[in-house]
Amino acid sequence: MARVAIVTGGTRGIGEAICQRLKRQGHTVVANFGGDEEKAKIFTNETGIPAYKWDVGDHQACLDGCERVEAEHGPIDIVINNAGITRDGTLHKMSFDDWNDVMRVNLGGCFNMAKATFPGMRERSWGRIVNIGSINGQAGQYGQVNYAAAKSGIHGFTKALAQEGAKFGVTVNAIAPGYIDTDMVAAVPEPVLQKIVAKIPVGRLGHAEEIARGVAFLTSDNGGFVTGSTMSINGGQHMY
Ligand code: NDP
Repeated sequence: MARVAIVTGGTRGIGEAICQRLKRQGHTVVANFGGDEEKAKIFTNETGIPAYKWDVGDHQACLDGCERVEAEHGPIDIVINNAGITRDGTLHKMSFDDWNDVMRVNLGGCFNMAKATFPGMRERSWGRIVNIGSINGQAGQYGQVNYAAAKSGIHGFTKALAQEGAKFGVTVNAIAPGYIDTDMVAAVPEPVLQKIVAKIPVGRLGHAEEIARGVAFLTSDNGGFVTGSTMSINGGQHMY
């Protein structure tokens, strides 16, 4: 059945692949983005998918943004919390702002978007929320206490909200991607990246579309018995 779906951080990388996949599934898809207006325009021209700018770390902006999306497209039944940032550094060099920005956007964004959409899903007795975590939230990662904590928090958030949504037909799941060939990973220095790829049993980075296929399953009617789970899509790098 066709639904209205929103993908945060949907104009680039993994989010863009998720938008395109959900559109191919027949859904009405809306992307949110944080600041790169030029990329958002190119995305909308290429895909025909509207893009709405707001900061997912801003609680009121999420409430207002989702209200606008619902007024223009209808009730939101599918939410993909994909927006994420990194502010890497070892603890002794990490500022409070580096910590706070990552918690606010990566973990706070999930709460804010759920507050805006979960009540409606409950009322309509159907909903799908997929939160994009990370292998580094499962395994930890040197230089990423902020990111690992936020992503690990996403996995706990997912399991708790899944318990609240189950009796209302709302499933809440997470996907923990391994290293995927997007802008975020392009920012990793080449020698570090080579070492990372050497540790991936399938011998390559993942593709954004491989995460999107997981989202397509979890958001489908066929995925109705899967809730509170974390799907690891990481080429065998970390078996959790
Ligand atoms: P990218 O950096 O390529 O894209 C990030 C997207 O998030 C952009 O659309 C960006 O918008 C948006 N965004 C950033 N901050 C905000 C904000 N405050 N409010 C709204 N939107 C925002 O990321 P990836 O595609 O690589 O990653 C997507 C998700 O997958 C992230 O949560 C990431 O942590 C996770 N992940 C990625 C992995 C990888 O290997 N790439 C591995 C594991 C997890 P704008 O373009 O406007 O900046």
